[in-house]
Amino acid sequence: MHEDLVERIRSANTPIEKDRKHGNMKPRMSQPKSLLALNIICPLLILLIISVLTRYALLIYTTLVDPVVLVLTGFFNFQIFGNWFQILRHRSVLPRGDVSGDMVASISGEAWCSQCHIVQPVRVYHCPLCNRCVARRDHHCFALGVCIGQFNHAHFVYFLGHAALSCCIFAFFAFRYIHTVYDPPAGDYFFPVVLYHYIVDGTADGCQSVVTFLFNFTLHLTVSLSGFCGFNVYLICRNRTQYEFSRGRNVVRPDRSARVFGPYFPLQLLIPVHCPPIKAVNLEKIV
Ligand SMILES: [Zn+2]
Ligand SMILES: [Zn+2]
Repeated sequence: MHEDLVERIRSANTPIEKDRKHGNMKPRMSQPKSLLALNIICPLLILLIISVLTRYALLIYTTLVDPVVLVLTGFFNFQIFGNWFQILRHRSVLPRGDVSGDMVASISGEAWCSQCHIVQPVRVYHCPLCNRCVARRDHHCFALGVCIGQFNHAHFVYFLGHAALSCCIFAFFAFRYIHTVYDPPAGDYFFPVVLYHYIVDGTADGCQSVVTFLFNFTLHLTVSLSGFCGFNVYLICRNRTQYEFSRGRNVVRPDRSARVFGPYFPLQLLIPVHCPPIKAVNLEKIV
């Protein structure tokens, strides 16, 4: 009798059915307001950084007159914003149910999310910040204000990769600009030294200070973004997520990166189109 009841509850609460039946259920906002603010402030900060970088990139490029780099800037901006859009569009969240969690959990003993009121398929984890269950949840990205999961993980990797490459190119041309225009001693490629000269003895001007700051900043971004991108690719190739990695969980079934990247991933390196991953997430087992 219990099994019948569980089956009835499960069939009535599959995510798609529930979505059709109840349409838009009001999300419960249980996350702290400070974190909500962070979710909005961080993406705005990134937009500001990109706009400042683009402005100074144009200044540098027009000085050096290099149309090839101008095309590269357009390409990387297209990739970064295109993948950002795809990350937001394919959030990988599961729709909510509305059955009492205690009742089902006590009957079936299955993984149950008491916040979303659904039976959690394998590798589905609840995000306390989004307050939703996320398929193949990797992590919650504060910088973009969204969870990274099954369907937007590939775009996240492309986002990181293109951002790292564009920062690397910017750092290179900022270095060349400083070298060509100012030709300072080696120590003056570091922002604190230039700032000292600008404030104390006036041997550096404002533009040199800003470009040196951006050179140092983008150099740091290149290292950190490429490292993070490499770490993500490593985990995807091992069929693990950051969430599982941090909790020491291994996926039993050996996997291929196609489950995240999809069958046409070389195309996605050129155009930020969405290709759904090959296999469903619930075929995998976790230990
Ligand atoms: Zn949940
Ligand atoms: Zn989240």
